[in-house]
Amino acid sequence: MGCDGGSIPKRDELVKQKQKQAKVDQNIINRVQWFTCALSKKSLSTPVVSCGLGKLYNRDAILEFLLDRTSYGDGDLICSHIKTLKDVVSLQLEPNPSFAENHQSSLSHDQEPVARYVCPITFKEMNGKHRFVYLDTCGCVMSEQAMREVPSKTCIKCTKPFETFNVIVLNPKPEELDAVEQAFVEKQARIQAEKKEKKKTKSQKKDLKKMNGANSNLLDSSTSSKRKLDEATDSPKHKKQHLSAKVPSVQPTQSSTHSLTATVAAKVAEQMAANASRQKSSALQSLYTSERSSKENFMNR
Ligand SMILES: [Zn+2]
Repeated sequence: MGCDGGSIPKRDELVKQKQKQAKVDQNIINRVQWFTCALSKKSLSTPVVSCGLGKLYNRDAILEFLLDRTSYGDGDLICSHIKTLKDVVSLQLEPNPSFAENHQSSLSHDQEPVARYVCPITFKEMNGKHRFVYLDTCGCVMSEQAMREVPSKTCIKCTKPFETFNVIVLNPKPEELDAVEQAFVEKQARIQAEKKEKKKTKSQKKDLKKMNGANSNLLDSSTSSKRKLDEATDSPKHKKQHLSAKVPSVQPTQSSTHSLTATVAAKVAEQMAANASRQKSSALQSLYTSERSSKENFMNR
């Protein structure tokens, strides 16, 4: 501590001083937040995705992370809230016409980099100097100024409808982080509730379908049995009808033929009998006549 003659105390050991907070250059923060992937720290390149907290990632890095959560050392610290690919939204970014890849790599750390993307309405560069938002319904990215100046319930870019809770601020300020996290938690709860409701309605629909199916089966079986019964009851009728249809057509012919043959036979028999009687009578007559003729000649007479 000094003052014992052995050592000379320094000023900061005797006077309490307010420690100077290390000021981080905002340009460096912007460069990290708006130009590099929050997970892989590589420069952002299409396709770019964002989470509910408004961080920017390269889609490839997120895929890699989801396949193996240890692929990036601090991945679980940065992306602990990303469980599946559904937790991120593919961003529809407007490319900056004045951006050149080669020019970018030749820039020194002091020079301000050219943003890769711009607002599709105001054409402001997405470099961290302007606030940008995206809609988690369609993924369209635009400056907050454009959203304010063109108030609409549909996306200015793709006209898809959205609600106020669908607007996510990209790279929010540190003081906004708590509110953003709160909104994110609420949103997750809402999604879970919606999922549950969907499941409920699905199961209800399934039950209804099953019930309807059972009823229709019953109806089908009843109708089929009815048909069978009808067939069963009809078949004898039909057969009878068929028989009755056949019988009168066959029977009369048979009877007619029988009767015809009978009548013909009878007639023939009658004729035969008549002929025989005639023959007999003629013979007799001839006998008589012969006798008579022999007796009664015109000479005898
Ligand atoms: Zn849109």
